[in-house]
Amino acid sequence: METPGESRAGGLAVALRDALAQRGGVWFGWSGDTVERETRGVRHFTEGNVEFALADLTLPEYEGYYLGYANRALWPVFHYRVDLAHFDESDFAAYEQVNRRFARLLAPFTRPDDMVWVHDYHFLLMGQELRASGWRGRMGFFLHVPFPAPEVFSALPQHQRLALGLAAFDLVGFQTDRDTANFRRYLVENAGAEILEDGRLRVFDQVLRAATFSIGVDPDDVAAQAEGEEGVAAAARVGKITDHRALVIGVDRMDYSKGLPQRMEAFGRMLDDHEELRGRVSFLQIAPPSRESVDAYQVLREELDRLAGRINADYADLDWMPIRYLARSYDRGTLCGLYRLARVGLVTPLHDGMNLVAKEFVAAQTPEDPGVLVLSEFAGAAEQMQAALLVNPHDIAATADAIHRALSMPREERIERWQDLIRNVQEHDIAWWRRSFLDALEASAGVPA
Ligand code: ADP
Repeated sequence: METPGESRAGGLAVALRDALAQRGGVWFGWSGDTVERETRGVRHFTEGNVEFALADLTLPEYEGYYLGYANRALWPVFHYRVDLAHFDESDFAAYEQVNRRFARLLAPFTRPDDMVWVHDYHFLLMGQELRASGWRGRMGFFLHVPFPAPEVFSALPQHQRLALGLAAFDLVGFQTDRDTANFRRYLVENAGAEILEDGRLRVFDQVLRAATFSIGVDPDDVAAQAEGEEGVAAAARVGKITDHRALVIGVDRMDYSKGLPQRMEAFGRMLDDHEELRGRVSFLQIAPPSRESVDAYQVLREELDRLAGRINADYADLDWMPIRYLARSYDRGTLCGLYRLARVGLVTPLHDGMNLVAKEFVAAQTPEDPGVLVLSEFAGAAEQMQAALLVNPHDIAATADAIHRALSMPREERIERWQDLIRNVQEHDIAWWRRSFLDALEASAGVPA
């Protein structure tokens, strides 16, 4: 269950659809459409052995539930930005109500031996609401974003209510061991959870398992796209402009969690410090605006425009532009071709559940001449990708140094680091993630009849 309205849905949607196509099943979620008044049912259609059941949101639900509680309260708090969070009781009421309404819409589609897999922070209360609708079968939840330290999670006025909701699932999955540990610590310290011998938690009269399942990509597909028609064409177009210069690439949704201003400042700082690199390296940042109607994004947009403008004004020359910043999105083939062309991938979020761009960048490289990944230690991916150049994205000088080091890294070291990274990306790919979560869910019990 998820929200196809999110841009992240791309790779995830494909992976989950594959899982459903293999086993047969129901895909249930928001249609991505908003309507004036509540529509009673779901839009229902079948493709192969997958049934789709899609529900609309009303305009007030979209405002209160989606833009409001999910994106103005949960998203910032889960990304450690309590300062940007906006807590509004009526937004939470809408959140609760949509979780309830969707659970009631889903309930008739379930059969006793089914497994229900719920995705992401939009549906934290779905498990509890499904149980209230009479569902007794196995039910798992996966959180794609970070689970913050308990002290930060507790800033949410409804934190107890949310924890109670999550505890209704038999299995709760997280991206990293850090997230899993945060969640467990919250339950133990704030809700008196007891840790059972097998590692499960007993809390609120429920027993649940909390574990790590780090999401991956499909590396073969990424490599094929990088070498495909679109990928090659994109690399040729950009190659014409960058000419002999090294390309540094960043690809993100425009979001304040991605550390984009810090990244631009670090690139500018590197040019300040290394005169010899001026005119010899180009930074291409692709960042389409997302959730434009949320104020914080408008502020970010203006800051990025200002920073890119300033750095370019300081350093650009008649035949060279240091930063090319494109506020639009590109298809996968194009992105993969550009990853492959790049000498450095800059993935420096301030906080990120996993960050799939880091894994895509690695999967797209040429084995004999790979680029270097500069990765934030606060991206979930850092737990698995220790062979990247890890940086603290708040430390502008250290990030500038890391970009410089990446640009001057000898080929043998680049190959060595890349081999380490690609091994992990291949081993823990998207199919592995899906399989390991479903196996764990299959092994869970549901509620005794
Ligand atoms: P998030 O889920 O926070 O957006 P991830 O890095 O985990 O971050 O996933 C982003 C996905 O969206 C990746 O598969 C990536 O290729 C894609 N994506 C990110 N930025 C863009 C963009 N500018 N244009 C097109 N696709 C993008």
